[in-house]
Amino acid sequence: MAISDVVRTRFAPSPTGFVHVGGLRTALYNYLFAKKNGGKFILRIEDTDQTRLVEGAAENIEKILEWAGLTPDESPLRGGDYGPYTQSQRLDIYKRYCEQLIAEKKAYYCFSTPEELEEVRKLQQKQGLQPKYNRKWLPESMGGSMPESKIKEALESGIPKVVRMKVPDGVAIKVHDAIRGVVEFDSAVVDDQVLLKADGFPTYHLAVVVDDHLMKITHVIRGEEWLSSTPKHVLLYEFFGWEMPVFAHVPLLLNPDRTKLSKRQGDVAVEDYVKKGFSREALLNFVALLGWNPGGGSDQEIFTLDELIERFSLEHVGKSGAIFNLDKLQWIEEQHIRRKSDAELAQAIRPILEEELKTRKTEMPIEKITSDDYLKAVAREMKERVRFVKEFVTFSSYFFFEPETYEEDAVKKRWKENTNALLLEFVARLETLSDFSASAIEAELRAFCEAKGIKTAEMVHPIRLAVSGASFGPSLFHILEIIGKEAVIRRVKRAVERLKAEPAAA
Ligand code: GLU
Repeated sequence: MAISDVVRTRFAPSPTGFVHVGGLRTALYNYLFAKKNGGKFILRIEDTDQTRLVEGAAENIEKILEWAGLTPDESPLRGGDYGPYTQSQRLDIYKRYCEQLIAEKKAYYCFSTPEELEEVRKLQQKQGLQPKYNRKWLPESMGGSMPESKIKEALESGIPKVVRMKVPDGVAIKVHDAIRGVVEFDSAVVDDQVLLKADGFPTYHLAVVVDDHLMKITHVIRGEEWLSSTPKHVLLYEFFGWEMPVFAHVPLLLNPDRTKLSKRQGDVAVEDYVKKGFSREALLNFVALLGWNPGGGSDQEIFTLDELIERFSLEHVGKSGAIFNLDKLQWIEEQHIRRKSDAELAQAIRPILEEELKTRKTEMPIEKITSDDYLKAVAREMKERVRFVKEFVTFSSYFFFEPETYEEDAVKKRWKENTNALLLEFVARLETLSDFSASAIEAELRAFCEAKGIKTAEMVHPIRLAVSGASFGPSLFHILEIIGKEAVIRRVKRAVERLKAEPAAA
């Protein structure tokens, strides 16, 4: 019988701190695979290691998935009844399955103290052996040397105990991995893993297998670092007689020097990238390409989430480590901005502008600068120049705010004795201009300069400085058209009041 009629994947993070970019990639691949196949994507909080819990981390995981648009199915966010599945709320279930394994002699009680285990470990290390449990408490009935009577005694005395799985001796354990093919492990290298801890909590290994089974997970897509745990899981599936999901271990994320991606070499928390201004589209696009490619000779690198859903397949996830290259992320961010329509960008700019307007006064009419048409015009002029959406507001703030300062060097260079007089004269001409389009303003300026016998540069640069405060930017005449007659005239007059030519050197 199939595990489930529909594909079911899960993201199963432990709430131990921030969400790592590698975690976002795991969530994304599971989401893409589920959606591509018309299946379900489930979030399960794996909080069985109580010593590593971080307050608020589980909520943060949900927040980030929501931000990324990877909303889990079967959660209240999708109209389901459950919070995310949370392992600490399911302890009875794991205990029950553990008891079954003990009854079937596939697991046994172990009363070895942490000190004893440490001693054994040290000894094994000294002898150059792989540290493993020495099976002191393996019962005689299971091929060990501990008499049943002693075990009964220990159980009755109530001393702390754990439950361990009994790994069969001398067998090859095969992991069928969708990305790596068959990976074989010698059972001699697999430890008698603890399944249930002294505090009554299951270990990850028991909980993950029980939950993946009960939640009918068909595909387990997770980081390569879990591959070495998988033989234990395979054995547990065999112990229980359960059908195995498809395993797919995705490659490690590497720093550019090919070491494992670490906090020391840069930011690894998704939040850090959100704070820097990266958009969800770009970040998802970027992490998607860390290990996956569209295949078929395609060199497409820019994908929306919908395109990723359409194109994703496990066949095109590679085995080798994926390099985390921040320049690429920045490039992807810019490509997404350039690909958006002006209307989409207007929608994205508006909330950022509104936030800015909470703390910053403007001389421009608010309805005008927050209108669709205005923001679309700003988007059109600036979308080739910004690196982040927020830069529409910060980098070209002159579309929304009068400049407070003017680039000093540029003023020094451009302001001549007669600049202020010429500006005022030209402003008077603008006042009478009925068509305030870029081309009309340009024609007016050219005619003005010709009549005065001056180069257009003598006017263009001071006007740009007066209106924007900056010496560079998109086409000046388009800036003027967008900002509008009133603001242009007001700003030029303000600049005339504030700026004057440097006295000529004596
Ligand atoms: N709880 C594990 C983690 O924190 C999940 C591993 C898995 O997906 O099985 O990554």
